[in-house]
Amino acid sequence: MDAGSCNGCEIEIGQAFSPVYDAERYGARLVASPRHADALLVTGPVTRNMAEPLRRTYAAAPSPKLVVAVGDCAHNCGVFASAHGVAGAVSDVVPVDVEVPGCPPPPEAIVAALRGLTGR
Ligand code: SF4
Repeated sequence: MDAGSCNGCEIEIGQAFSPVYDAERYGARLVASPRHADALLVTGPVTRNMAEPLRRTYAAAPSPKLVVAVGDCAHNCGVFASAHGVAGAVSDVVPVDVEVPGCPPPPEAIVAALRGLTGR
């Protein structure tokens, strides 16, 4: 879920699932709905208008579930810290299990974090 990112992290997530880095071979697969998800990838600082959608998306995912905060913005609001439209970091809104640092994090780091979840 993009909670307010600049889209840089999404480009790297897209690469992580491309044929080059291929996170699927390690058991991680993108799904179209949080109702089908075991984990939520969340990017960006959480903007004020995305805080409630993030809470609802978290609630929609079946338990047990994990949250992966991707990027420095997700971790601590990054370059958007103190911006007037920012509600906070991802962990200020929903529980976070794994953080992937970087602005943006490279695909290798995203795949490594996902492998930590899938155990493959
Ligand atoms: S961490 Fe960097 S690339 Fe990712 S949303 Fe923030 S500014 Fe953009």
